[in-house]
Amino acid sequence: MNILFVASECGPFIKTGGLADVIGSFPKTLAGMGIRVRILLPAYPPLGQVMAAGEPVRAMDNLLGGAARVVAASSAGLELLLLDAPHLYERPGNIYVDAAGRDWSDNAFRFGALSKVAAEIAISGIDGWKPDVVHAHDWQAALIPAYLKAAPGAPPTILTIHNIAFQGLFDPSLIAPLGLPDWLFHPEGMEYYGHLGFLKAGIAFAQKVTTVSPTYAAEIMTPEFGMGLEGIVTARAADLTGILNGIELVAWNPVDDLLLPRNYSGETLKNKAANRAEVARRFALDDNQNAPLFCVISRMTTQKGLDVLLEVLPRIVARGARLAVLGAGDKGIEARFAQAARTWPGAVGCVIGYDEPLSHLMLGGSDAILVPSRFEPCGLTQLYGLRYGTLPVVTRTGGLADTVIDADPAAIAAGTATGFQFSPVTPSTLEGAIDRACTAFRDPQVWTSMVKAAMAYPVGWEQSAKAYKALYDAVSGAS
Ligand code: ADP
Repeated sequence: MNILFVASECGPFIKTGGLADVIGSFPKTLAGMGIRVRILLPAYPPLGQVMAAGEPVRAMDNLLGGAARVVAASSAGLELLLLDAPHLYERPGNIYVDAAGRDWSDNAFRFGALSKVAAEIAISGIDGWKPDVVHAHDWQAALIPAYLKAAPGAPPTILTIHNIAFQGLFDPSLIAPLGLPDWLFHPEGMEYYGHLGFLKAGIAFAQKVTTVSPTYAAEIMTPEFGMGLEGIVTARAADLTGILNGIELVAWNPVDDLLLPRNYSGETLKNKAANRAEVARRFALDDNQNAPLFCVISRMTTQKGLDVLLEVLPRIVARGARLAVLGAGDKGIEARFAQAARTWPGAVGCVIGYDEPLSHLMLGGSDAILVPSRFEPCGLTQLYGLRYGTLPVVTRTGGLADTVIDADPAAIAAGTATGFQFSPVTPSTLEGAIDRACTAFRDPQVWTSMVKAAMAYPVGWEQSAKAYKALYDAVSGAS
């Protein structure tokens, strides 16, 4: 079976968040099941070298304002179809926003073009290859089902919503320049309160819609989490499934992770101490063996609840616990964590920026990872935490609710607890969860049992790949 993935980011080449981890890892598991995935991805500057080693397979004289081509290339175990359109993608900095933090003014064209070319490949194939299913990811690829709506014989489409907060809303005057069928612009279609809604179009017209956890699938049918799209999501409820993301088990493995000073398994947990000492050194923390070292690895936005965490720092410090924070994003939140590190030197440390090797070290050396998100479609850092025996302290929402087993007395007694959940997101509930983690930490038997249960918890793609294969089979009529 052939699947065309279409997405705006893909690890290890270009990443702003969890979407990249998913696109860069999931196809490898599918390949092991006999499914060939090719990933259509914009050829941003960091992909220049990969593209230079590739093979041009399609040329276009005018793709929404400039010449473009598709280059087939293989790298990092992935098969890429790179959309080389310099007028759209050849620019420095972030792939979504300009240096001032504003969305690139031509984002409708940049990602409309991605969908348009995907639709053309879906219809006529490329390179002698034709997809049986087109799998679009997030709003940047969500116009594909709209482009294919009027194409008889087009392959079926699946849209995966990785975060419904990002919807791609634009002026409807762009419908004609984008070459979209204008008869699809209505409230049950691609219209969102007078705007052209990319994600809305995908939800309305894809054969199946998935999102990245069962709990988030239920949540986005409610006004609290649906971000205004709860109506159309509910209308598609019969075709909506929540399938958890997995992580790449080879790249994220404490047993042989080269980015850790000391490797360890569930049987050699004492080795974690050397990693903890290195985290303490990097974040200028005084190591305190009687309390946990918490970490945060996150985009700094209100979604992630880090403003709430800031409120409870005095409590963390009072318990003798330590906190290492790695993140970037909202300038106000960044400044407050930097200030916290100055207020509590030795207890709170902070690195502002994006640093993947440091994130591995933090997972290998911290005792627990804090994820106090207000909403979290799936969340990956808690899965990395489980894999590294770094117990997640998480909000009971979305994928966090589905992947962490709370340390209630029954779960502790049964040896199944893997972390700490709390809800709703308030300073006092978060403080309560941190208190519970500190208490558990002081009981080595409980803590070790939880760490072992966490490390044994399945966080790979295997289960979810089966669910997606069933969906691909169902929509393509292969079963
Ligand atoms: P989201 O996609 O909403 O940002 P996820 O938890 O799904 O959240 O995925 C975030 C990914 O980005 C994880 O792989 C996480 O380790 C990584 N990450 C986030 N911030 C940083 C950072 N400052 N440095 C390194 N990795 C980061």
